[in-house]
Amino acid sequence: MKNWARQYEIKTPITFVKEEEDIPKAIKAAISNGTRVRAMGSLYNFANVVEPMKSGKLFHKDHLLSLEKFNKVVSYDEETGYITCQAGMKLKDLNAQLELYGRLLPNYGNVDGQKLGGLISTGTHGRSLNQGSFSSSIKSLTLYDGNGNKHDLDFDSTDPATIELCDAVGLSVGMLGIISVITFKTVPLYYLRMINSPQQLDWVIENWQELNEKSDYVEISYFPILDMCIVGRSEKLILAEHENAHLDAPGPYKRNSERPHYLKVMLEAIVGLCLELRHIEMDICFDFEQGPEFLKRMRQYFKENPKRTVNPVVDIRCSKEERFLLSGAHKRRAFWADFLCIRYGSKKNSSYHQEIHNLFKDMKFKRHWGKHSCMTPEEVQEIYGENLEKFLAIKQELDPKGTFKNKYLENLLGNCCPNSKKLNPKMADDLPVKSSKALLADHDD
Ligand SMILES: Cc1cc2nc3c(=O)[nH]c(=O)nc-3n(C[C@H](O)[C@H](O)[C@H](O)COP(=O)(O)OP(=O)(O)OC[C@H]3O[C@@H](n4cnc5c(N)ncnc54)[C@H](O)[C@@H]3O)c2cc1C
Repeated sequence: MKNWARQYEIKTPITFVKEEEDIPKAIKAAISNGTRVRAMGSLYNFANVVEPMKSGKLFHKDHLLSLEKFNKVVSYDEETGYITCQAGMKLKDLNAQLELYGRLLPNYGNVDGQKLGGLISTGTHGRSLNQGSFSSSIKSLTLYDGNGNKHDLDFDSTDPATIELCDAVGLSVGMLGIISVITFKTVPLYYLRMINSPQQLDWVIENWQELNEKSDYVEISYFPILDMCIVGRSEKLILAEHENAHLDAPGPYKRNSERPHYLKVMLEAIVGLCLELRHIEMDICFDFEQGPEFLKRMRQYFKENPKRTVNPVVDIRCSKEERFLLSGAHKRRAFWADFLCIRYGSKKNSSYHQEIHNLFKDMKFKRHWGKHSCMTPEEVQEIYGENLEKFLAIKQELDPKGTFKNKYLENLLGNCCPNSKKLNPKMADDLPVKSSKALLADHDD
C-alpha cells in the first residue's frame, strides 16, 4: 500500500479495527510485547508520519491499525449541533451526513478523502482567516495512550491539566496515542458563492490585508510561469436567509462562480492536471503580516530561476489563530504557502523544495505535519521552542515506552527531548538517527 503521492510504501502489517475495544487491546498487546502500534488514515500525507518504527522483536510484530471500518456517526445532538463520529470516518462522509442535518463544519480544504483521525492529527487547515484548522472544531475526543489508559478530553474544559493535554492532543501526529471517537462543533448549513478572478501579483500584494480580512474564504493560486494569480473568494450564504438564491446545491464543495474567464479555465485545467500528476506538497506557515514580503520574494525567486516555473502552482491560504502547540497558527493569524512540486523520473526537480526552504528560512516559518518538509531537527527545535518542549513532556508522560514511535518523527524530534534516552534506553538505541541531509532527501527515495 502506498501513500497518495506514491512516495513510499507501507510494509508494516495492518490490523483492521472493527470496534472500539480493538484499540486498547492492540495497545496493551504492544506494551506487553515491547512492540509498536500506530493508527493510519487515508495516507494523504507527504511524509511517512504513519508507520511505527521497527521494534525489532523476534516473536511479535509491530502493527498499523486501520480505522477504515470504524467509520460511523455515533450520535448527533440537534440542540448543540455537536456530532460524534468514529475516527475512521472520511471527511466527505461526515459532510454528507451533516448536510442532512442542515449543518456543516466551518472550514474546508482542497480535498475531503481524509479520515477524521488523520485530518485532525496533522492540523489540516482550510482557507479562511476567520477559521482555525479542523482541530479547532473539536468539542471532545477519546484517546488511548501508551500506558493503556483511556482519556475522554473535553476541549472546552477549564481545568488547567485538561487544557494542557488538549493543546497537545489536538494536533499530535499520532505521537500521543490513538484517537477512537471525535465530537465536532458544527455550524448551520451554508452555501458558497465563489468568485474566481485572474489578478496580477501586485494587486494581491497591495490588497493582501483587505482581501483576506473581508472575504469568508480565500484561496490565492499563483502560477509562476505566467506570474499571475487566480484569486478565489467565497462568501457564505446561510440557507434560511437565501431560500430563493439561484445556487447549485448546498455544501462547501458545490460552487457557484461567476462567468468563466478564459484565463480561469486555462489555469484551473493546469491545477487539475497537477493534481492528477500526484505531485509532492510542501506547505509552510508564516505570520499573516509577512504576506507581502513573502509574495515579493517568491516572485523574485521564479524570475531568477525560470526552470522552476515547471512547478505549476503555489497555493496560498490563511488560518485564524489557534491553541495547538504544534500548529503553524499557534496564537497568531497565519498564512500557508503550499509549493506543489512535480515529480520527474529523474531527480531534476528534487531540490526545488530545498531552495524554497532556504529562501524563506530567515522568516522563521512553521511546517505542515502531514506534508513534505526540509526542516532539520535543529530548526524544528528553534522554531517551535517552548511549545515543542511542552509537547515532548506530554509525549513522555503519555507514551513512556515509545509504543507510538515513528521513525520520521523520531529523527526529527527524538533528540529534542532531553530525557528520552534516559527514560527509554532500549527503545532509543534502535533509532538510527539520520543526518539532516538524509532527512531532507527522504522524498526522493
Ligand atoms: C491531494 C491532497 C490535498 C490536500 N489538501 C490539504 C488541504 O487543503 N489542507 C491541509 O491542511 N492539508 C491538505 N492535505 C494533507 C492532508 O490533509 C493530511 O496529510 C492528513 O493527514 C491526511 O489525513 P489521512 O486520513 O490521510 O491521514 P494519514 O496521512 O493516514 O495519517 C496522518 C497522521 O495521522 C495519524 N493518525 C491517523 N489516524 C489517527 C488516529 N485515529 N489516532 C491517532 N493518530 C492518527 C497517523 O498516524 C499519521 O501520523 C492534502 C493532501 C492531499 C494528498
